[in-house]
Amino acid sequence: MTSPRTIATHRPLAQAMTVAKSPKLLAGLAMLAGLACAPLACSSPPAELPGPIHHEIAAELDPGAGTIAASDRLTLPPGDWVLTLHRGLNPKVDSGDATLQPLGRDDHLEHYRLHVAGAGPVALSYAGVIRHGLEDVAESLGRGHQRTRGTIGEDGVFLDGSSGWYPSFGDHLHTFTLEVRLPPGWLAVSQGAGPGTLTEPSEGTGASPRQARASWREDQPQNEIDLVAAPFTLYQRATPVAQAEVYLRTADPGLADRYLEATETYLDLYSRLIGPYPYPKFALVENFWETGYGMPSFTLLGPQVIRLPFIIDTSYPHEILHNWWGNGVYVDYASGNWSEGLTAYLADHLLAERRGAGADYRRDALRAYADYVRQDGDFPLREFRSRHSSASQAIGYGKALMVFHMLRRQLGDQTFVEGLRRFYADNRFRTARYEDLRRAFEAVSGRDLQGFFAAWTGRTGLPRLQIADLMLRQGSQGFRLTGRVDQTQAEDPFPLEVPLLIELADGELREERIPLTERSATFDLELPAAPIRLSADPDFDLFRVLADGESPVTLSRVFGAQRGVIVWPSEAPPELAQAYRTLANAWAASYPGWDVRSDRDLDGLPKGSAVWLLGWENRHLSTFVAGATFRLDPKDHRLGIPSVEAMPEGALSPVLTRSIGAQPVAWLAAPEPAAVAGLARKLPHYGKYSYLAFTGSGPGVRLKGQWPAGDSELTVWMTEDRVPPKRLQRPPLADQAR
Ligand SMILES: [Zn+2]
Repeated sequence: MTSPRTIATHRPLAQAMTVAKSPKLLAGLAMLAGLACAPLACSSPPAELPGPIHHEIAAELDPGAGTIAASDRLTLPPGDWVLTLHRGLNPKVDSGDATLQPLGRDDHLEHYRLHVAGAGPVALSYAGVIRHGLEDVAESLGRGHQRTRGTIGEDGVFLDGSSGWYPSFGDHLHTFTLEVRLPPGWLAVSQGAGPGTLTEPSEGTGASPRQARASWREDQPQNEIDLVAAPFTLYQRATPVAQAEVYLRTADPGLADRYLEATETYLDLYSRLIGPYPYPKFALVENFWETGYGMPSFTLLGPQVIRLPFIIDTSYPHEILHNWWGNGVYVDYASGNWSEGLTAYLADHLLAERRGAGADYRRDALRAYADYVRQDGDFPLREFRSRHSSASQAIGYGKALMVFHMLRRQLGDQTFVEGLRRFYADNRFRTARYEDLRRAFEAVSGRDLQGFFAAWTGRTGLPRLQIADLMLRQGSQGFRLTGRVDQTQAEDPFPLEVPLLIELADGELREERIPLTERSATFDLELPAAPIRLSADPDFDLFRVLADGESPVTLSRVFGAQRGVIVWPSEAPPELAQAYRTLANAWAASYPGWDVRSDRDLDGLPKGSAVWLLGWENRHLSTFVAGATFRLDPKDHRLGIPSVEAMPEGALSPVLTRSIGAQPVAWLAAPEPAAVAGLARKLPHYGKYSYLAFTGSGPGVRLKGQWPAGDSELTVWMTEDRVPPKRLQRPPLADQAR
């Protein structure tokens, strides 16, 4: 996959994080923004940036044959345009003062020169087959997703901006009306106002009794036009913000009701936090393969995903929020996709923070970056287009959300939210860059943020912190604590404000913020009582290297390793051994740095790389267990984990991690082949956990957790008693919704 296309998430599982649809970027033939003229044949370019191109599309879809037959009455200024359509659709000019001439092919797309000689609309007609199968895209060890360039089939119709189902013109924005004819019982969904929200009756009566019809329209400029269709059951509810809709492929009023309720809740939250919702409806649409697509005014989620109970308060609000970021304010992909990080920050992180788990969420983001992004795989935020791997996710989502978090901490919650509102109001239905974000935050704060944005969006790498020269003196008035904070990474210093949390003997918690723009900064603090503990950035407010002790091993360290060995148990019962081998080969298939070995072929644990051990029967299990905090009994398949009092009942499929030296090692076992197959599919999505236990062949997760973090060099104790550290309580950002 070379172009920055939208990515479906193959994740019927935890950590669901989804993506906004990105517009197509046509290599070679892309027009420069604002120029309605191809570089090759520029006879009469319009002098000014034209407004959106208006389409009046009438399309007939035949899922059995995979065909579309359509007409499009285009309103666009005279000039030479590069028009793009799916190959084989043979467009013709039906009316208007225009000519059409082929320019060449680009994969599944065909480009034409449309010469518009006079004013007035141009009507085109075209017809042909659009049917591409699902392609697999690998992301990291064991993890991938499926995508299609577009399909009209019996399973359903998926046509987006890069499918070429309507005439598009480089980066130009569109407005449209759309009439779709379909087989009886089918419904079509597009963005904007549809059957549930259009007040005017659709014109004409062209549909025969053997056809269904749907009308859609959107008058605000759109990046692309999406069209999805299937034999859906539709559920609707009016809410004060917009119409809530649910399109299910299998009728389920209870499920629909929960989504209608959640739609109302989150539309309300975000319109109060950021500004008015930009569309007349929001719809949940069930797809026929597993996706997490956020389209303008609807989301396309897979059939398993929508039935997972946690999605409704994790991925779903993320998708709704994309109507502000990505599908309300558009992304200038060439200068960096800011929308995923901002959406993750204001959905996934905001909700974690509301549950009191903000610091954990940020630590997981820092850990994912550490585990998945290698030095040679790092890139600046300005180069992030869309997620195509766990590493690019750790940057484009994880690092980006940390950058927004640092900005919020520096500006304060209220100013930060005012900046978001300003950015939204100034850029709605326009394409925006990081510079536009900077301008909005500068306008509301009166601060110069050039240095901050330049460093955090333009550079790779991250700071490593150290506390030095700490000295405590007692005076007549109280205590005086002096010291230094250093950035010790090899790269140049980053602009930081380092929070120091000091716990005093009288129970008080003090936060001091130390500006650190150079290598080092000293501090000199007057304290009314004796300090018992000082911690630098204990709540993971900074994008930085995690110190030893802050980061116990989790599965992401193993899944993120570039090199590794998967060791299957030769002594397991034949069917089970075969299932383990299948898992090993499936995981390693796309990753040349990973080998699959039988335990018989190894004298001990492989050295110098990550290791996956499989099975209770594995000959190297005793090495894995020696010196570990957990216990394993291979005879009766029992395990004990120190912090877990009651293990789940029944035959378990346990998963454990640990470090042996610097080497991350994970082990899994299952009682039956079907459970192994389930683990192969699910486990790569549980990267943030240190241990898990599943039951059944599904399998279902019954237990999950992280090994406790220990002390690190970023915490200094000044007493012998190490009482459990206190945490500063800060109001969640959601409190700023008005
Ligand atoms: Zn997203």
